[in-house]
Amino acid sequence: MKDIRMVDLSGQYEKIKPEVDAALAEVINSTAFINGPAVKNFQANLEKYLGVKHVIPCANGTDALQVSLMALGLKPGDEVITTTFTFIATAEVIALLNLTPVLVDVEIDSFNISIDAIRKAITPKTKAIIPVHLFGQSAPMDEIMELAREFNIAVVEDACQSIGAGYTGKDGIYRKTGAIGHMGCTSFFPSKNLGAYGDGGAVFTQDDELAEKLRMIVNHGMKVRYYHDEIGVNSRLDSMQAAILDIKLRHLDEYANARRKAADFYDNAFRDCSKLITPYRYEKSDHVFHQYTLLAKGFDRAKLIEHLNNKGVPAMIYYPVPLHQQKAYLDPRYKDGDFPNSEYLSKNVFSLPMHTELDNEQLKHITDSVLEFINAL
Ligand SMILES: *Cc1c(COP(=O)(O)O)cnc(C)c1O
Repeated sequence: MKDIRMVDLSGQYEKIKPEVDAALAEVINSTAFINGPAVKNFQANLEKYLGVKHVIPCANGTDALQVSLMALGLKPGDEVITTTFTFIATAEVIALLNLTPVLVDVEIDSFNISIDAIRKAITPKTKAIIPVHLFGQSAPMDEIMELAREFNIAVVEDACQSIGAGYTGKDGIYRKTGAIGHMGCTSFFPSKNLGAYGDGGAVFTQDDELAEKLRMIVNHGMKVRYYHDEIGVNSRLDSMQAAILDIKLRHLDEYANARRKAADFYDNAFRDCSKLITPYRYEKSDHVFHQYTLLAKGFDRAKLIEHLNNKGVPAMIYYPVPLHQQKAYLDPRYKDGDFPNSEYLSKNVFSLPMHTELDNEQLKHITDSVLEFINAL
């Protein structure tokens, strides 16, 4: 049996090696390392794939979130609502821009932001909501967009874990996550579902005005060279990463299917196990399983993880501490117990290996190892 890893990028590379190597050689020979044709091609192909009018490439997912908030022209003290059960980058950019992060709880089943909690958190100062499509499954976008319209709030989707996942709205239209809100952000970090061989990110929008602003902001606030109309940043996707991403984009749906197949295997193996809660699948959304995250019911997950590690099976905890309990984000507005679902999840979730290269032998070894521990409880 091949070694089991949380993410297997080398197995995936082997299958596309000739294409990738040729594309990299082409970029090197062209010396168009920055803003070369590879970036424009990838941008156009991603726009087509997502069904979105504008893709603005940038340096990473965190920058994508930051420049999105910058494009909204918010003022210090403006409030941005997001979930406390996410990766730190989501709240980091709010704080860095001197905006006020307003944290809310998640649903216990889907791990995604709670609509009731958003509604309760809205004040006259609320200017934006950042829903996170956690672990690869869309947040309830119909309800979020309705709230946004009712209170005139911008929606910036954090689609860093969900590229390729879709959501069928009440209008019956299927849209890709990141292309539903006013802006959507993604990351091309190597382990993400569409991963580069280095850093990368992008913002998506259907809005021409926001797109123009975003293109200026990622380029030092300039439209005409050396004339700076806005305070911007330097945030670029380099041509080599774009060339790799353009090739991997052609395989993205096939990659999502491979992940779903692994998830189905896990679901089936654990179906009758009362000690494990398998990932909830929202009816309107096709989960792309950035992570396969389970809930441990009534046992110590650390002991299970130790058992798995002894069997050559890695496992991880995403995320062990919700944002309101992180040292850097401690805030007198929040205390332990304020977000019971997120606090419960952070103590009881664990994630099994999930990537495009898992074979049945590996999956069987993983599920057998989990069940061996559970059955001995
Ligand atoms: C990965 C990730 C980010 C940040 O992306 P980087 O490219 O690493 O900056 C932001 N939000 C979420 C939910 C993520 O998973």
